[in-house]
Amino acid sequence: MKRICVYLGSNPGNRPEYAEITRRLGRELAARGLGLVYGGSSVGLMGRLADTCLDAGGEVIGVIPKLLKEKEIAHTGLTESHVVNSMHERKRLMAELADAFIALPGGLGTLDEFFEALTWNQLGYHTKPCGLLDVSGYYACLTDHMDRMVGEGFLLPAHRSMVMTSPDPADLLDKFEQYDPPRLDKWIELKKGH
Ligand code: AMP
Repeated sequence: MKRICVYLGSNPGNRPEYAEITRRLGRELAARGLGLVYGGSSVGLMGRLADTCLDAGGEVIGVIPKLLKEKEIAHTGLTESHVVNSMHERKRLMAELADAFIALPGGLGTLDEFFEALTWNQLGYHTKPCGLLDVSGYYACLTDHMDRMVGEGFLLPAHRSMVMTSPDPADLLDKFEQYDPPRLDKWIELKKGH
């Protein structure tokens, strides 16, 4: 792995733990010589992550759509910045540049981007590891819901297990090193021969 794409809130959230884990991840990436790919903004947790990585001597690549350059206040001190034409281009380029995906606490944008990376994995478009950095149980309801998808027959256990979860950045990155992607189709009914 050379670069990790991190999806995270363009707001800071209400708890200090969110910024703390963000900074821990930033320092860990820099310490391991892993580049950061992210949405290019200077606000919320996004800005804190980029600043921490840069301060620790890490490489930071931002990808921001033209329309959001002002609203999300594009970070001006990154190692590399890409201004793209659309959200779709942003997601595609971020995914291409990275070897793995992490979601820190965030809102709808964070989930949209993380789930897209996951669903591409499920369809076999790529085999890059995906993980949630969970702090203060922020993602507990989401992981419970994915278990429910398995219980209700909408998600295979092997695809559920693609989502690695940890409260610790170093532990999550270690899990990524061990990742063995599932190599099976997602269509449960076809497997049963219906
Ligand atoms: P949020 O988690 O909602 O604070 O958003 C985090 C980041 O995701 C921000 O940079 C948003 O601009 C970005 N974002 C929101 N919606 C999308 C989308 N549909 N595709 C790509 N990025 C998005």
